[in-house]
Formats: sequence, C-alpha cells, structure tokens
Amino acid sequence: MPASARIPPIVEPFVSERAKKTLDLVEEFVEKDCIPADYVFEAQLGEGDQRWKINPPILEELKAKAKKLGLWNLFLPKNHYSQGAGFTNLEYGLMAEYLGKSKVASEATNNSAPDTGNMEVLAKYGNEAQKREWLTPLLEGKIRSAFLMTEPDVASSDATNIQLSIHREGNEYVLNGSKWWSSGAGDPRCKLYVVMGKADTQTKNAYRAQSVVLVPSDTPGITVHRMLNIYGYDDAPHGHGHISFNNVRVPVSNMVLGEGRGFEIIQGRLGPGRIHHAMRSIGAAERALEWLITRVNDDKKKPFGQLLSSHGVILEWIAKSRIEIDAARLIVLNAAIKIDTGDAKAALKEIGQAKILVPQTALTVIDRAVQAFGAAGVSQDTPLAYSWSFIRTLRIADGPDEVHLQQMGRRENKSRKDELTAKINWQKAEARRLLNEKGLKINSRL
Ligand SMILES: Cc1cc2nc3c(=O)[nH]c(=O)nc-3n(C[C@H](O)[C@H](O)[C@H](O)COP(=O)(O)OP(=O)(O)OC[C@H]3O[C@@H](n4cnc5c(N)ncnc54)[C@H](O)[C@@H]3O)c2cc1C
Repeated sequence: MPASARIPPIVEPFVSERAKKTLDLVEEFVEKDCIPADYVFEAQLGEGDQRWKINPPILEELKAKAKKLGLWNLFLPKNHYSQGAGFTNLEYGLMAEYLGKSKVASEATNNSAPDTGNMEVLAKYGNEAQKREWLTPLLEGKIRSAFLMTEPDVASSDATNIQLSIHREGNEYVLNGSKWWSSGAGDPRCKLYVVMGKADTQTKNAYRAQSVVLVPSDTPGITVHRMLNIYGYDDAPHGHGHISFNNVRVPVSNMVLGEGRGFEIIQGRLGPGRIHHAMRSIGAAERALEWLITRVNDDKKKPFGQLLSSHGVILEWIAKSRIEIDAARLIVLNAAIKIDTGDAKAALKEIGQAKILVPQTALTVIDRAVQAFGAAGVSQDTPLAYSWSFIRTLRIADGPDEVHLQQMGRRENKSRKDELTAKINWQKAEARRLLNEKGLKINSRL
C-alpha cells in the first residue's frame, strides 16, 4: 500500500492530490534510493581526517535524481514563501516522515537542518542583497550553512545568556567570543555562519539585547577548534563545531533585520524547524519497528526453540510501538495544521507537544528494537544504535525538554486557572443546591 493510502483519515482532507503523488515519490525515493545509499555514503566517507574533506559523490547523484523528480525544497510552506515546492507544513510533515528513515534523504532533497532554518531566516527576514548572496545558493543546494547560538561558557538554553560580542566600528561589526555545537560547521561546503550575539549591550531589555549577523565561514579571525561527538559518532562531514571568533570583521550590511532583533529571528527560525525534527523522528521510529518485526521473525534466531514473535512480551512491544507511533504522528500533523491555518506563534502549544512527545516516543520504540536484536542492536550492524543516539540529542537540541515543559506548563496554568477554578466552584455549588433540593445527604466535601 503506497504512503498516500496510509495517510491518517483525520488529516487526509487537508492533503492535495499533488502532495499525495509527491508523497508516494518521496517514499519510493527514500526506500529504494536513499536507504541503500546510506551505506555507500558511509563507505565513501572513509576513515580519519578525510571524513571532513569530502562530499561523498553518492550525495550529488541523489540530489540530481531528487531535483529531476521534483523532490526539492519541500519544506518551505507555500502560504509563507514562494521559493519552495509549494506544499503546506502538513503535506511536508507527511513527506518528512520518510526522509527521517534515512541518513542522507534530507540533504538529498535539500530539506536538512540547519540549512532549512537558515533558509527560512533569510527568506523571512533577509534583505534582497542577503537573499541574493546566501539564500539563492542554499536553495540550489550549492553551499551549506551553520547556526551559531550555543556557547561553551554559559547555560545556552536561556538565550538571554548568550555573550558573543558584536561591536560596531565604523562600517563594520567586530565579533569576539566562542560557540559550540555549531552543527554543519564541519562540512567543507559550509560557507555561511548565522551568528547570534550581543550588539547593543546598553539595553535593559534582555529580549532586545541579541542580534543575528551573517558571517562568511572563511572570514579571518575564525578558528574551528574541534568537532564534538555524539555518543562517539562524529556525524562527518556535517559535524558539530567548537569555534572561536577573534576580532572577526563583517560589513554592517550583514546584520539581519536590525540590532536587537535576534530573539524575534530565533523564534521565527525554530517554530516550524522544531517540528521538522519531530516529523523525521516518526520515520526513524517506523524504521526501527520494521527492523524489530524482521528480527523477531528471523527463523535462524530462535531462543529457547521459538521464534521471538511467538513470545507474548514481544507481540506487546510491537502493539505498543504501533499505538505510540500512530499517536505521535497525529500530534505532529496536528501541529503542522495549526501552523498552516495560523502561524508558528499561534501553534506554540502544539509545536511544544510535538517537540517533547515525539523524540521520547521514538526513543522508546528504538530501544525495544535494540533489545530485540540482542548485542547486535547496540552495534553498527543495524541502523538502531546510531538512530537512538541521534534522536536522544533532540531532547536537548533546539532547547531541552525541561525548558519547553516549563513554558508549556506556565502557559497552560496561566490561561486556565481562573476559568477552571470558577467552573469547578460553580459545579460544587450546583451539586449542593441539587442535593438540598432533593433532600439528599451530602456525602463528600463540596
Ligand atoms: C546534536 C546537537 C546539535 C546542536 N546543534 C546546534 C546548532 O546547530 N546551533 C546551536 O547554536 N546549538 C546547537 N545545539 C545546542 C543546543 O541547542 C543546546 O545544547 C541546548 O539549547 C541546551 O543548552 P546547553 O547545552 O548550554 O545546556 P544548559 O542551558 O546548560 O542546560 C543544561 C540542562 O539544564 C536543564 N535545564 C535548563 N533549563 C531548565 C529549566 N528551566 N528547568 C529545569 N531544567 C532545566 C536541562 O536538563 C538542560 O539539558 C545542539 C545540541 C546538540 C546536542
């Protein structure tokens, strides 16, 4: 059954016929081209230092095919941007699930982070010259980019702590400071850093202190010290850089939107971007379930003389995984519809729900699959170990779970406390009145 026939009925009326056709193409491209190519990509990367110097040729082959099929820049939603493939967030959400099943599929279709978020920043807030210089080559997949916010010396989940200084001298800004977890900075094609720092240190308003500046990655004064690992995986050639800025000079025209507008920009950037990861995590969970089902029906591996699938507990893992993935998918698609019908600001609650729930769900499903494989599950012989480690980072990247939960809890509490207290008090009073009217005993604390 093709992907378009498996769209949840509750969202199906919102999906165009063109999107359904494209969804089926995405599924076929990922399952038949990208997943086998994941192994080629890793082999072409090779070992040692060269992993940071090459662009595995298989990727360019896939990009050419994706462009031909029209599977390019699918992420830019049609009601906000003219530069994308013309789909809604919901339609892209259905497609992104498949992209999440493969390591290379997102980049092969030019839908990979952090370029997607950076392209949204440039499309939404960039001026014409900035768009010409950076957005055009990013949209064409000719260069890559990184987003530099997190710093090694401060708790960066609170963006008001960001310290990198952006000091104006004549027609230039001079940047000094350190960044780390700059994803994508390892790639030799990474030509642009979108850098957040403090330009106007005079303001008392912490939410107006940050600014975003475009910095070419080869600007003198930039040093990439090292690449950080994720549970031992290097993520080459993309990588996660630890970078310092020592009197790095850029023209004042590289400021995005204006001094002090940094918060506005990151909020715009991270809105839909947060659910892109969630959408792909559904695909990672689906792939883990596929591997689990295959393993528990493997005739050659029968502990205690029985197929694993004949054990009740394993069937329960399959059933629970099915329920959890299907429920998580609805949360993501609901957030996408909410963004489509309003904007990311109106969908803060739904985006937060997806951002928190989906990685946790995917981790649970992947962990079951790891367990079903025994020792092989933690090795390089299945995609599960890498998949688990990557999805685990999503509970921290783009803001840790705790911060989102706190904000969500605060909003829910503030918006509902008065109304709910009034409603429950009224219901108690009404119950007392009814009991009295009917001459009945009051047997609970009303
Ligand atoms: C794989 C990966 C890729 C990344 N890519 C990028 C990137 O491209 N660009 C970039 O700028 N950054 C990137 N990051 C960094 C990421 O955004 C930060 O790590 C994240 O925002 C948390 O900041 P921190 O590490 O400074 O942790 P801290 O702010 O020091 O927080 C540490 C821990 O404190 C707890 N905590 C924080 N606030 C609260 C609270 N209010 N209540 C309870 N507990 C709390 C949380 O458990 C949190 O994990 C990436 C991170 C990872 C892992």
